[in-house]
Amino acid sequence: MDIHEYQAKDLLKKFGVNVPRGGIAYSPEQAVYRAQELSGERVVVKAQIHSGARGKVGGVKICSTDDEIAEAATWMLGRKLVTHQTGPQGKLVGRLYIEEATDIAQELYLGFVMDRTEERVVVVASAQGGMEIEDISANEPGSIIRSVVDPAVGMQAFQAREIAFQLGLEPGLIPQAVKQITGAYRAMDEMDAAMLEINPLVVTKSGEIVALDAKLSFDANALFRHPEISELRDKSQEDPRETYAEDRGLNYIGLEGHIGCIVNGAGLAMATLDMIKMSGGEPANFLDVGGGASPERVLMSFKAVLNDPKVEAILVNIFAGINRCDWIAEGVVRAVKELNLTMPLVVRLSGTNVDEGRKVLAESGLDITTTETLAEAAEQVVAAWKATGNPSTTAEAAQ
Ligand code: GDP
Ligand code: MN
Repeated sequence: MDIHEYQAKDLLKKFGVNVPRGGIAYSPEQAVYRAQELSGERVVVKAQIHSGARGKVGGVKICSTDDEIAEAATWMLGRKLVTHQTGPQGKLVGRLYIEEATDIAQELYLGFVMDRTEERVVVVASAQGGMEIEDISANEPGSIIRSVVDPAVGMQAFQAREIAFQLGLEPGLIPQAVKQITGAYRAMDEMDAAMLEINPLVVTKSGEIVALDAKLSFDANALFRHPEISELRDKSQEDPRETYAEDRGLNYIGLEGHIGCIVNGAGLAMATLDMIKMSGGEPANFLDVGGGASPERVLMSFKAVLNDPKVEAILVNIFAGINRCDWIAEGVVRAVKELNLTMPLVVRLSGTNVDEGRKVLAESGLDITTTETLAEAAEQVVAAWKATGNPSTTAEAAQ
């Protein structure tokens, strides 16, 4: 789960990380009012969306007068900002952060990521901050510092000091930098964050180290330990397909293809996506119906999959252990009837009550293709989808 910049800064502050003063605004009038509360000469108006690279698309504006603030706020609020991180549909600006402006002497990059190979948090830092980490690795690969944290002892002062020296900071700045780096690590660790990116971490002209931007993502599986963080969720920033499914307890991830998938078990779902790709198709989603799925739950899964207008064919793949194939089949039949499904549908059932399940499908008289194996199912659904000749098929094939 992602949160907004102002929320991340608020949390980081509790761990001793320096952040500029600021306030949230939902209207141009409120933006001006917030700026007056800060009483600096200049403020920065910042669009709050779950994406970086806002600066490049007008989502970060330094303003000196009330008119400029109101104008920037009017332009940003209600606008969909499209960055390279949002996808083409963009993200809606519903709130602004009004922050005192900082005089920047140097922009640094400081990131913390969970490295799955190392099985540890890795600190990534660079003296070439401001640009995206992808651009730093492309343009200034030599500037990237990597430091692995031992979870048994956490980020030690000597390790943070080493990073600060490698960043080329003046000796006078090192103690401050150590405080920022160790504080940021503690925030990541204690809040079960999956990723923390401070870009830029700046050195100000008056010699202070300040986190000017902050991006914080949480491991959804650990949120039950942090109810106050769960509260920060902003559904307007999420993929609506995922929100619909998640609110109904379905494990769903939206993808870019045209073949909708309804599967039980995360492992089988991954295998199903692979098989669809190997058969020349592209999956539209990952959906795990879970164990013991009732016909209603199967119907709900069809609705979740059909929420995506890109879906042009559906593959149901169930290897029933705790599940019952007859319940799944009943759900499939109900879905086809109640949702007036006309697109190709391939069902592969295996395991508990498979004969009863197949019987339900056969006796329904509906146009449902059934197969014995996953390989056949994947091939058939891709072939049936291609045979529909839908415009998206031909448009993408031509690219
Ligand atoms: P992002 O584009 O979404 O990553 O938003 P950031 O908060 O990182 O802002 C983008 C860029 O705007 C920063 O890298 C800075 O160069 C600039 N910027 C942001 N806040 C300030 C500020 O207070 N003072 C100055 N001088 N520049 C700022
Ligand atoms: Mn940034």
